Amino acid sequence: MKKLLLTGVFKPFGVSDEYGEALATMELLNNQVTREQGIHSPRSNNPSFGLYIMAENIEIPATVLDFPSWEDFTKEIDAGNYTHVGISFIAPNVIKARRMAQYVRQKSPSTVILLGGHGAAIPELSDIVDYDEVCRGEGVTWLRRYFGEDIDKPIVHPVVHSGVRKFVYGAPIISEAGIIITGVGCQNTCRFCATSHKFEKQYTAFLSSGKDVFDACVKTEKALKVTDFALMDENFCKSPRRARELLVEMEKEGKAYTFSTFSSAETIGKLGIDYLVRVGVKFLWIGVESKANVFEKTVGVDLHALLADLQNHGITVLASAILFMEHHDKQTIHEDIDWAISLESDLLQFMQFGPIPGTRLYKDYDAEGKLLKNIPWPKQHGQDEIWFNHPHFTLKETASYTKEAFIKKFHTHGPGVINMAHTYLKGYLTAKRETEEREKAGLVWDSKTLRYVKGDGPVRDEFMIKRLEAMKLSALEFRPILKVAEMYAPNWESAQKARMIAEKFEQTFGPPTVKERILAPVVRLLAWLEQMRLKRDGVVMRQPHTIRKTYPDRHATAPKATPDHRWVRHREHKRPAESAQHTEAKAEVK
Ligand code: SF4
Repeated sequence: MKKLLLTGVFKPFGVSDEYGEALATMELLNNQVTREQGIHSPRSNNPSFGLYIMAENIEIPATVLDFPSWEDFTKEIDAGNYTHVGISFIAPNVIKARRMAQYVRQKSPSTVILLGGHGAAIPELSDIVDYDEVCRGEGVTWLRRYFGEDIDKPIVHPVVHSGVRKFVYGAPIISEAGIIITGVGCQNTCRFCATSHKFEKQYTAFLSSGKDVFDACVKTEKALKVTDFALMDENFCKSPRRARELLVEMEKEGKAYTFSTFSSAETIGKLGIDYLVRVGVKFLWIGVESKANVFEKTVGVDLHALLADLQNHGITVLASAILFMEHHDKQTIHEDIDWAISLESDLLQFMQFGPIPGTRLYKDYDAEGKLLKNIPWPKQHGQDEIWFNHPHFTLKETASYTKEAFIKKFHTHGPGVINMAHTYLKGYLTAKRETEEREKAGLVWDSKTLRYVKGDGPVRDEFMIKRLEAMKLSALEFRPILKVAEMYAPNWESAQKARMIAEKFEQTFGPPTVKERILAPVVRLLAWLEQMRLKRDGVVMRQPHTIRKTYPDRHATAPKATPDHRWVRHREHKRPAESAQHTEAKAEVK
């Protein structure tokens, strides 16, 4: 009987030891977006969502182990009787994967070791890790094919939180959200992009219609009691049909869900700002990359105007810029940093132009002999020193330029959370005004053209009334932190900005409620404690709890399928005996 363990690498994360690096964590925002913002940095660990969708969609019994400690992992191997263990990792975590694989070999020599994730593209992987198979491309199809299952079965969407152990100013007050994985891959094929290359420059939709996306939201809402979702999709706006259908479903059912997602600049215009507001996009990650416009996705787009329009309509923007590209020298890199800051996005990521295994950039740099092969893998994460020869920068300079870029953004525009609070407030006011104006003018939403058009007369826009309520809640979520943002502001301008936003909140929503008044001193106390910890330790690293989730054997309902032996390399994989277990997947958090 086959039995699969799908696991992420072991904690601790964000700690420099023999297996990992301080600047490689499971916290996307703190690690590379609000870096250098100290106490103002929102904290949240991001689950390895790929593991859950794979486990949910194969027929053999599977267990997901996310954020395990070494003890959790070894206990699972010792007691689990797994025929297969899949380890997912990024390149900087390959040493952790090696240790895990060594343990499996030693304790359970007959177990098949599968490797997956972006780290599995390391060319000399077999010299580093002892394994049997590498999962390439999209994981659900790969695993189904590998185990001889039906690769065309519809995808069942798993229920997963978008972040765990969430804090801001030391207070656990960030609201919960679910994750919806609508698809993987991107056809834009930017040369440096690991995602695009991992999925063979193709987009694979897990949820191909708007109804599918909506149903996944409803399922997650029921299970987690959330109405806010991270849409994991490199370019959600690229499929206008699906986007349009999603809004139709939401309007039909009266659900004003909110979404955070990714989009390339050139696709945003295809849907338009009215659509984005109406469907509830509240956070967009946009790769702005460089003033030099070296990527097609930004050519001809006025990014300053685009970002301002999004923010005025309540969509917080995380812009992502790249450092140490080929055209960067000591002058042009400053021009690019200043240009990225001048976009005035709420949040700004600076990521190094890192050749990641599997990408065209990696192949090019390898062929040109630019890769520095002596840099250890754990250091190749894009936030410290680069791992290739750049004609204009020493390695030490690359670390300090990166750090200084974050500091400059922080000191120019203040804490990201304050910018987000301001954007949500501005958006609520804009949407309220525009809704009232449209109602007076008799404009109604046309779901085909995604525009407001002349209707038969003044009519109340019931869905936008719901949307405004959701926008108000998104803004008010930030109210308890406005005072501490002012108290710990990095400079006078930031303190002033926090005060101005707090006043605008009061003008818009009235004085704080009793609950907000009670919460405010609690947040102040927790922020003070957090600041003390930061002063004492330099960094606060809360490790996420281990998540263990089991998925039943679904063979009893599976159609017969013939194993595809192209994927079977070292071992013979027999179809497991059928079982009649149909129990719900069980999760436990340690
Ligand atoms: S647009 Fe974004 S996701 Fe698509 S290939 Fe470029 S960097 Fe990757």
